[in-house]
Amino acid sequence: MSHLDPSLAQLGATDWQQRAERLHYRVDNLIDGQRCPAVSGATFEVLNPATGRAHTQAPRSSADDVDLAVKAARRAFRSGSWSRLAPRERMAVLYRFADLIEAHTEQLALLDTLDVGKPISDMLNVDVPGAVLSFRFFAETIDKLEGAVTSTTPEALHYILRQPLGVVGLIVPWNYPLLMAAWKLAPALAMGNAVVLKPAEQSPSSAVLLAELFVQAGGPPGIFNVVQGLGAEAGAALALHMDVDKIGFTGSVEIGKLMLVYAGQSNMKRVTTECGGKSPQIILEDVADFDRAVTYAINGIYANQGEVCNAGSRILVQESIYERFVERFAELAPSLYVPGNPLDPATRMGSLVSFEQQQRVLGYVEQARSEGGRLVFGGDVPAALAQGAYVNPALYADITPSMTLAREEVFGPVAAAIKVRDLDQALAIANDSIYGLAASVWTRDIDRALTFARDVEAGIVWVNCFDHGDMTQPWGGFKQSGNGRDRCLEALTQYSQTKSVWVHLGG
Ligand code: ADP
Repeated sequence: MSHLDPSLAQLGATDWQQRAERLHYRVDNLIDGQRCPAVSGATFEVLNPATGRAHTQAPRSSADDVDLAVKAARRAFRSGSWSRLAPRERMAVLYRFADLIEAHTEQLALLDTLDVGKPISDMLNVDVPGAVLSFRFFAETIDKLEGAVTSTTPEALHYILRQPLGVVGLIVPWNYPLLMAAWKLAPALAMGNAVVLKPAEQSPSSAVLLAELFVQAGGPPGIFNVVQGLGAEAGAALALHMDVDKIGFTGSVEIGKLMLVYAGQSNMKRVTTECGGKSPQIILEDVADFDRAVTYAINGIYANQGEVCNAGSRILVQESIYERFVERFAELAPSLYVPGNPLDPATRMGSLVSFEQQQRVLGYVEQARSEGGRLVFGGDVPAALAQGAYVNPALYADITPSMTLAREEVFGPVAAAIKVRDLDQALAIANDSIYGLAASVWTRDIDRALTFARDVEAGIVWVNCFDHGDMTQPWGGFKQSGNGRDRCLEALTQYSQTKSVWVHLGG
């Protein structure tokens, strides 16, 4: 793990404010190593949701821009300038790239914070180091992957090569703009593919700097392209393109399903998806450290404003400790997550990404009330922060499994506490969901813990913790949480294909 530059760790809110004002940046496309506007010249405004004011503009790309980027990527891929580079040379470029990202921590952190309102301290401690680690991890794998020689008759030599796919389109969300891009870019580039990245329209700013750093690190032009724009325009054009070999997608279930449709309507490109969740955190009465579990449950739902695909938004608590849990949660959470200025390093909860998202979240708060949930705290707009897209973190108790708050992904700081009799009932409720990204269980009983881990329908399981992990851990879901796996070696296989070569010996 990289460590935060001490000079950044010391900065206060005023320093960050000044740095944000001094930051010079333009949001462009980057095609064939060159910054460029959309062919049409169209742009869209990018809102800083913490201030409610537009802070920049980005190219509103169309199918024409996507086509230019895909053509550049195909040319660069076929040239072999990246895909046939000696493995350790490709590795050296990715290491330099990781170093440059680290050296640009301040700028990258500011860009994502200004775009989406997330706390600068999260960018410094989670997102940027996570992106750096992602590139270092996949750089390390480049000359470790091997093909295979199979057992055939003596008249033949048969071997299996693992090769890149070609041109990969990456469509990523706004909740961790830099980090989600890095999780996909790193394995795609490590395998030797050429990439066209389409950032979310809410968070276009860091991607273009990232792509420039790749070229500065010695990455050949055309290997890492960025096309900005709206999902239904640039995103759809990329996913429908006839010369894109694969789409790596993270976002909503609705759009994830569209990716599969687009693939079928075009060239049957491969699609991997990661589509969010409604992750259960299960706290049983024999939990070893009650306060630790409460604190993890709080962080599990409120970190990153609850705008997290694996947010532990369903908190299932055994009935004997349920009221005590709700009380303790209500005692601790409001002071741990006080919405505030994202540029203040003391802030742990920033604004939501947009006013639209704020209204969506407030709609869920209202619906939970009308369906009979008990609002314990929060769920309103902080009066002093009315200029931005803020919502106070909320806890609803007495949510039943059929209520909307137990079923739909809010993507905001709204926790639903559900009372359960025992582990069996908790497991049944946990699995009664279209989602299956992550789950946790808190118990001292190893048999219960491992039975839960075996039977829960989720791609990621935590026992007596939440949200722990590193690059070695596969990240992805069961069911409608998607079919992809980010991080770990498995990600490499998703950006590669095998080739079977049969050689007849003896003329
Ligand atoms: P959210 O609801 O969290 O904004 P989305 O699934 O809408 O998540 O967005 C995730 C990514 O998918 C973004 O980059 C967005 O621009 C893109 N996107 C949205 N709609 C489409 C679409 N119809 N085709 C392709 N990409 C899309």
